[in-house]
Formats: sequence, structure tokens, C-alpha cells
Amino acid sequence: MSVIDQALKANRLYAQKYDPKLGRHPQPRLAVVTCMDPRLSDLEGILGLKNADIDVIRTGGPTVTEDVLGELVVSTRVLGTKEIMLLNHTGCGFTTFTDGELNAKFTEVTGDSTPAPMRFFSYKDPEVNTREQIRKVRSHPWIAKDVPVRGFIFDVDTGRLQEVIVAEEKKLEKMAA
Ligand SMILES: [Zn+2]
Repeated sequence: MSVIDQALKANRLYAQKYDPKLGRHPQPRLAVVTCMDPRLSDLEGILGLKNADIDVIRTGGPTVTEDVLGELVVSTRVLGTKEIMLLNHTGCGFTTFTDGELNAKFTEVTGDSTPAPMRFFSYKDPEVNTREQIRKVRSHPWIAKDVPVRGFIFDVDTGRLQEVIVAEEKKLEKMAA
């Protein structure tokens, strides 16, 4: 049986016990931008929040694209989330290749070069990635200045979160200069 057929079968049982109250208008409190990696899927467990409290925006990496910025504007200004969390992780697959390598690989395996160069948003360092995301989100004119924007790295070996601080880095840069 295909995975989707298996899921459809399970859904029939799920619907029998479904609480219709869950279909009411959502009122999430936190917007989380995180990677498509399945190890980041248990956000209830990782963050100790209810699914209903979390507005989840997922991309590879994660990457804060123009689309993600639009979703954050909607999340904070329409759905009413109060804070933004940028959730990166160790061991991300997107650090294991470059966009150039992937474009070359897919051109070769498919024999079709028309979609290249495709943006895959590969990166090398989750800390650098997180800092760039924080700056990008904080500087967006449509994201209110009083919405906290904080970045973290989830350690896939320990399950712990480590915060990435941008302000301190600026201070350190000043001291070094
Ligand atoms: Zn990842």
C-alpha cells in the first residue's frame, strides 16, 4: 500500500474521533519558521506548546524567502501571532550540497537542464544562517517592531535549543574594531 493510501485509511479512524471544536477559527500565539526536516516536526514536544498555539511555516533550511516574509506578515497581522521564532537545526541536509552541485546533479539524472539554475538555498553554517534570517525578518517594514524575532538552533543529538543572539555579536564586532 502506498504511504498516502495508508494515511487515507488512518484518516477514516481519525475523523470518527475528531473534535469539531478544532475547526474553529485558529488563534495561534507563536509563528515558527523551521526546516522541512522531519526531526523538527514534533514542535509540541520541542517547544512544550499546543499545536493550536503554533503557526508553522516550513521551508528547506529553513530559508526566509520573500514568500516566508509574506506569510510572517499574515501570521502576525492577520492571524495574530505575537512572536516569531526562527528555528534552525544541526545536521541540516541543506548544508551538505551547494546549489550548483544540486543543479548539475538533477540536470544529469533527468537529462533536462531547463529548470537550472534553481534556487535550493543551500548554506554552510546554521548560526550564520540564523543571524541572516533574524536581520531579514527584523528589517521588514511590514513586520511590526514590537514583535520579538528570535533565532534558535535545535541540536538533533541532544534535543536542546540554543539561542543565536544578534545584538551581542554587534557589540563584539564593535569591541574588535
Ligand atoms: Zn534542515
